[in-house]
Amino acid sequence: MTDNLFTAISTRLEQTPEQILVERPGGRRYTYGEALQESARLANRLAKLGLRPGDRLAVQIDKSPEMLLLYLACLRAGGVYLPLNTAYTEGELRYFLDNAEPTVVIAQAGKTSTLASLSAAAGACVATLGTARDGTLVEELDHEPTTHEPAKVGMEAPAAILYTSGTTGRPKGAVLSHGNLLANAEALIDAWRFSAEDRLLHALPVFHVHGLFVACNVPILAGARITFLDKFDVDEVIEHLPHCTVMMGVPTFYVRLLQDERFNHKTTENLRLFVSGSAPLLAETHEAVRARTGHGIVERYGMTETNMNTSNPYDGERRAGTVGFPLPGVEVRIVDTETLAELPHGEIGGLEVRGPNVFGGYWRMPEKTAEDFREDGFFITGDLAYVDEDGYIHIVGRAKDLIISGGYNVYPKEVEQIVDDLPAVVESAVFGVPHPDLGEAVTAVVVPQPGRHVSESDVLGAMKDKIAKYKRPKRVIVVDSLPRNVMGKVQKNMLREQFGDIYR
Ligand code: ATP
Ligand code: MG
Repeated sequence: MTDNLFTAISTRLEQTPEQILVERPGGRRYTYGEALQESARLANRLAKLGLRPGDRLAVQIDKSPEMLLLYLACLRAGGVYLPLNTAYTEGELRYFLDNAEPTVVIAQAGKTSTLASLSAAAGACVATLGTARDGTLVEELDHEPTTHEPAKVGMEAPAAILYTSGTTGRPKGAVLSHGNLLANAEALIDAWRFSAEDRLLHALPVFHVHGLFVACNVPILAGARITFLDKFDVDEVIEHLPHCTVMMGVPTFYVRLLQDERFNHKTTENLRLFVSGSAPLLAETHEAVRARTGHGIVERYGMTETNMNTSNPYDGERRAGTVGFPLPGVEVRIVDTETLAELPHGEIGGLEVRGPNVFGGYWRMPEKTAEDFREDGFFITGDLAYVDEDGYIHIVGRAKDLIISGGYNVYPKEVEQIVDDLPAVVESAVFGVPHPDLGEAVTAVVVPQPGRHVSESDVLGAMKDKIAKYKRPKRVIVVDSLPRNVMGKVQKNMLREQFGDIYR
């Protein structure tokens, strides 16, 4: 019987105990049968450390197959899995620990960890786990029984708290239930035709919805095999691609792979699916990957709070620059953010979603939760989008990034596309900065191609016939690179801060 996400997973693990679940090249691998046993041992161990159903298990460790088993053990124990970005600084960790109050904390073995000292001071039980199956969590593990009665928690029980990427401000803890995660994994298995024949190349970080839920729950529940790379490294990815059938990536993976000639038809001949998400994939990247490998990337759209909402079709046209159609069971609407009226095709408005994938609310932020849901249960994503005449959804950007200049709406993406098309430009970011007359002024930073020179007047000159005057930047600043977070997202709040005074 399926009571929760773990019972669904264990039913699947029991079916093919010999199948390899996860392998780290040059490191350990675990079969489905071993994963079942190891998760039982770890769940027994977590109980000894004091973890009870509903308690938070905070985890800040490097990626390893054992980390995946720990995630399964936490689900099994009815705990709430709380992964923390390994790049967080002391101040950030203090915030997360105060906010989430974990009972048990798992820190990286073999390192002096700020997390460990802060957690111990806060009264949490601290254990360690390393990538060589070392650390205090696993030292005595072989003595633990390989049986464990899974916690009797229901579909509505929280399975994880994931902090958002913090692209627009301080990260918020999204509470995801067993039911949310299971519903989304099932929808994606179906949409992307996952099966036990699949081997997934996993090079994503595992403290985020993309790497943890999409790229772990989906293959596990399909009975597939996961090749777990420590991080994205072009050489390593190219080495393992020929043995894999699916790769999930953020757009920068594809941009970087394209810079290497070995990324071609030959190295991807066993592949059946490339997925991209977490940030917009440029249409030119989509086309370049198709030209080079013959594969049309399936771009999908999701967020921490909802997991995946939409995807381009597996069969049928994978339309570049769009995020496809709502997944089965997910309702998407585009509304006028003032009147809340639903908008016709082609008109830009706020994207709202409702479905079994959508979280119940932010952790300990009742006002924020209330603010972000409509009365009829739709969640306000904060993204702006429109639906084209064929039903494909186009994400235009974030409502927070919309620039209102002299009373006109300017969508940064439209301006960025024109700047990015200039031959000497690699990429750009367009954002609004306070301006005495205009309210906000359109402002751009551009990254030139290596060895090429770009000036403000070049960019402005080239834009003249292409776009209305009010949309053209008032200032263009040439920079070496754009500020990005670990998911490859451009942090416009940092740009707004950095250039906040240029019109004063
Ligand atoms: P925060 O909410 O803390 O500001 P964040 O929104 O970046 O950070 P995530 O939940 O990781 O945190 O990211 C979700 C967002 O990523 C979406 O709301 C959307 O803006 C963007 N996104 C995801 N997939 C796509 C895509 N395919 N195309 C365009 N944008 C995407
Ligand atoms: Mg967000």
